[in-house]
Amino acid sequence: MRTLAIFGATGSIGSSTLDVVARHPDRFHVAVLAAHRNSAKLAQLCVRFRPQVAVIADPAKEADLRDRLRAGGVTCEVHSGMDALRQAAADPSSDTVVAAIVGAAGLESTMAAARAGKRLLLANKESVVMAGELLMQAQREGGGELIPIDSEHNAIFQCLPGERPMLAEIGVRRLILTASGGPFRGRTRAELVEITPEQACAHPNWVMGRKISVDSATLMNKGLEVIEAHHLFGASPDTIDVVVHAQSLVHSLVEYVDGSVLAQLGNPDMRTALAHALAWPDRIEAGVAPLDLAAAARLDFEKPDTQTFRCLALAFQALRAGGDATTVLNAANEVAVAAFLDGALPFLGIAEIIEQVLEELPSQVVVDIPTLVTRDRIARDTAHRCIGLRC
Ligand code: NAD
Ligand code: MG
Repeated sequence: MRTLAIFGATGSIGSSTLDVVARHPDRFHVAVLAAHRNSAKLAQLCVRFRPQVAVIADPAKEADLRDRLRAGGVTCEVHSGMDALRQAAADPSSDTVVAAIVGAAGLESTMAAARAGKRLLLANKESVVMAGELLMQAQREGGGELIPIDSEHNAIFQCLPGERPMLAEIGVRRLILTASGGPFRGRTRAELVEITPEQACAHPNWVMGRKISVDSATLMNKGLEVIEAHHLFGASPDTIDVVVHAQSLVHSLVEYVDGSVLAQLGNPDMRTALAHALAWPDRIEAGVAPLDLAAAARLDFEKPDTQTFRCLALAFQALRAGGDATTVLNAANEVAVAAFLDGALPFLGIAEIIEQVLEELPSQVVVDIPTLVTRDRIARDTAHRCIGLRC
């Protein structure tokens, strides 16, 4: 029986995780459920899954969560705040942590799970972009397994032999990440001037949270994933390629020196990656419809348009710059995306703000997590200032 701690339980990945878990009550027990401030939804999940511990990040929502749990007859421990999140990630009541908080807010709990040697099911890509080296070091020292949930990285993991070998030693030439191209694939810059948040969040193939949906529309999501692949698989930037594949059926590929290219295919449904990682090395039913290749009929591939979608180029630039440039990139992107969703920044302004912040804050050597957290805050302040100056 695997015991699970699910961070970001009320989100899109959290819901998909719990859907898979509910199909296998003999295999999985939910020990910890954690979320940001949606106490009503978190309480509902606690009534259904009966964890030992519930954590709500926003302390102002703790009393409401307690009331709802009492009314629902749930007697679990209730905690709130960032420290509680960190402690719950390391708590021995679980052996597996699903890191599905969105954004840099997930860093501390993801790090705590890695240090504690948990099986880490990693969806929170921003923590890797922000602190990849330190996270991978913590995971090695903690001695636990890290299984990527991001569909591209999960696909690559599935196409590599063993748990996480060094690529050069096993004849890997290239990692090829597929990108759907998002809702605006094929458009010119002029056609992107008036884009609204609703249009940006209407992804053609995947149903996801709003932040990652905007990232997919700007192609920053693919940029973050290139950085994620670099850290998770030890791949240099020159050995990571991106190809646009509008159908989102090929989730990524690994090219070997002998010319073989291995791919993982499936319908675009995150439950496949989650079921794979939850049960690994076993395979379990995920509730995902079988892939009907004849119905799909075609698989198309094209080069990404990095002139129009500059965020992908900016991510490669930050990765090549090294040090904490990707921390700065991530912070600027989070602020710019939030401003776009609030109607305070046009769609094309997202890349402009990130570029300005990267220019203002040249890369520094990575020291430790507190230094990166400070750097993240400075980059956020800089991004806010740049957005303010545009108005
Ligand atoms: P979402 O917006 O649907 O859910 C986010 C979750 O994070 C919620 O449960 C929320 O309560 C929690 N959260 C937000 N801020 C928090 C804070 N300060 N403290 C504690 N909890 C907080 O997002 P999502 O689409 O589920 O994405 C989650 C992560 O998974 C992101 O990093 C995303 O990039 C990654 N991811 C998502 C998908 C997908 O299909 N949705 C695919 C690949 C990777
Ligand atoms: Mg992905």
